Amino acid sequence: MRRFRNVKIVATLGPASNDYAMIRALHEAGADVFRLNMSHGDHDEIRARHAIIRQIERDLDSPIAILADLQGPKLRVGTFARGEEDLAEGAAFRLDLDEAEGDASRVCLPHPEIFAALEEGASLLVNDGKIRLRVTACGTDFADCVVVNGGTISNRKGVNVPDVELPLAALSEKDRRDLEFVCQLGVDWLALSFVQRPEDVHEARTLADGRAAILSKIEKPSAVAKFDDILAVSDGIMVARGDLGVELPVQNVPPIQKRLIRKCRIAAKPVIVATQMLESMIESPMPTRAEVSDVATAIYEGADAIMLSAESAAGNYPIEAVTTMDNVAIEVEGDPTYREVIEASRSANRKSVAGGIVAAAREIAETTDIKAICCFTQSGTTALLTARERPRVPIIALTSQRGTARRLVLSWGTHCVMTGELERFKQAVVNAARAARTGGYATEADQIVVVAGVPFNMPGTTNILRVAPCAEHLIFASDPE
Ligand code: ATP
Ligand code: MG
Ligand code: MG
Repeated sequence: MRRFRNVKIVATLGPASNDYAMIRALHEAGADVFRLNMSHGDHDEIRARHAIIRQIERDLDSPIAILADLQGPKLRVGTFARGEEDLAEGAAFRLDLDEAEGDASRVCLPHPEIFAALEEGASLLVNDGKIRLRVTACGTDFADCVVVNGGTISNRKGVNVPDVELPLAALSEKDRRDLEFVCQLGVDWLALSFVQRPEDVHEARTLADGRAAILSKIEKPSAVAKFDDILAVSDGIMVARGDLGVELPVQNVPPIQKRLIRKCRIAAKPVIVATQMLESMIESPMPTRAEVSDVATAIYEGADAIMLSAESAAGNYPIEAVTTMDNVAIEVEGDPTYREVIEASRSANRKSVAGGIVAAAREIAETTDIKAICCFTQSGTTALLTARERPRVPIIALTSQRGTARRLVLSWGTHCVMTGELERFKQAVVNAARAARTGGYATEADQIVVVAGVPFNMPGTTNILRVAPCAEHLIFASDPE
């Protein structure tokens, strides 16, 4: 699907976005990447949504990325007999280990280790901090609480205990099962929740064994502290503001977001800004001005992708939410200030031949009337380096690797096209020109820049930059081989 913006949109799927028609409508409205949250929904539901996405991909013949988000060592309440309950300020509420469904007076919190660590007076924050409970009495299998800030509590809402250090492993038994399940289904990105140290990423990478790229969700103070080391071993990052804003004072989140986005760009790794971007659109077809401003800010900061959570998974206006993001992105990216900011924050430190070549490709594309930068990539690295340049012209990433094409969908400005195995450079130019024309990026009269590595199919060989015509007879007339 041709997009008229560079930032990508990630949409979480859930009960509000379950069937083919809805998921396809979300994709057509602008969702580039679909997120399957392993915290909600069982394997049958996940398998069904996965099959629908792959069907849409086949029907539209264009790659779509699937991101499976592992629950991680997140504490969550169990389920409620009525699905949800309203907790009023001042009311008593008990958390315990009883697996029976909850009601207005209690719910299961299936984590004995919390009860062992809790103390009277500790705060428990539920649902990204919207509900606050204070412990009034506790034992090895229960905590009696008073509701400090009330709200609606529903099935499997997350619980944070910011005052208490909890000894939790990076991947639970459930995470390991889920990881194997989604890797067998075939997902492009695996998001790891509550990463605390680089070792957590190694463990998941070993289990994934090359079947999916690894994205670290930054939502713990320790992950912020060790961010450079975590980034070095991750393929992508999510600024997971929900838990981050509970684990740290909320006012710390915007500067962290800015800093993380900048570091990801320097590292040429995609970064997603997530949580509460258009929260009010769960209930309303119109966003608040503050939310629009938040989405715009992430785009001005140069994020690769912006994300919808409950807005598309469980809200009343999933399509409107995607359309809002699309509209904001087009407006921001058309603003001259956006270009100024993006260009001023470009790093001069390119460190490699490929980095230098794609920088040159951008310079050439921007100083002459070139319609697209077409880069051939096997591992995806050349496309990531091109995206880091944040060029004014579209990036067309051509690859024979379906996994690479799908993973790159998450990256800023990258339009992914499958191409056959190549032997000769002229064939590459012909394919690039064809992709630019059929994608609507260029006409027969235009020129493109082609970046490739010869010999083909050897990673790390980017060594050619060619300015080429788009008309096939001109390619054959001008190219020696
Ligand atoms: P995370 O910490 O991973 O962000 P979350 O609970 O905040 O977890 P999101 O995916 O961010 O979940 O938001 C999705 C919202 O939609 C949640 O509030 C959840 O209750 C609701 N929802 C209900 N069913 C599903 C489902 N099957 N998949 C995803 N979300 C669901
Ligand atoms: Mg989370
Ligand atoms: Mg969330």
